[in-house]
Amino acid sequence: MKEGENKFFEKYILLRDEIDNKSLEIETEHTKHIECKKGCDMCCMDYKILPIEFHYIINDLNTKKIVPEISTVIKEGGCIFLKNHACTIYNQRPVICRTHGLPLLFMNDNNDWELSACDLNFTKYNFEDFTLDNTFPQDKYNSKLFMLNKEFISEFQEKNYNEFDLIPIKDIINHF
Ligand code: SF4
Repeated sequence: MKEGENKFFEKYILLRDEIDNKSLEIETEHTKHIECKKGCDMCCMDYKILPIEFHYIINDLNTKKIVPEISTVIKEGGCIFLKNHACTIYNQRPVICRTHGLPLLFMNDNNDWELSACDLNFTKYNFEDFTLDNTFPQDKYNSKLFMLNKEFISEFQEKNYNEFDLIPIKDIINHF
């Protein structure tokens, strides 16, 4: 890893910590309405992530000399890092995996506010009671991540990334 990339990875960790803290705050507020627990893998899909996350994860695993395990049985559209219903890159997992199950507030393609949550959660909750304060502001953090990624790809020399490029999580394994 080059000096310049390290600078962006440090900023990424700060942003990721901020997201983890906000997620914990929302989760704590809604504990009794959230069924998420270890062993539930309904949200684990073959997501695509921004280059800064992709390269951070590879770099961190390499630095810690961790070779990620992959599942030998992968359901269609599932994530290869899901093994025995648990994530094999849990500590390094990308941002999208850190907000699973929470009430996510975002602007949809029709420019309308939309709220999304896992079907297993909030089954006895009145959706009218969701507010700006008790939902996860997905657009806010996606925007911060997008801007950080934009800075990162402008300095990252290895590949000529476009600002809208996304990389499948499963490609991580090609670097080990
Ligand atoms: S990286 Fe981990 S948490 Fe994210 S989808 Fe894959 S198995 Fe699930």
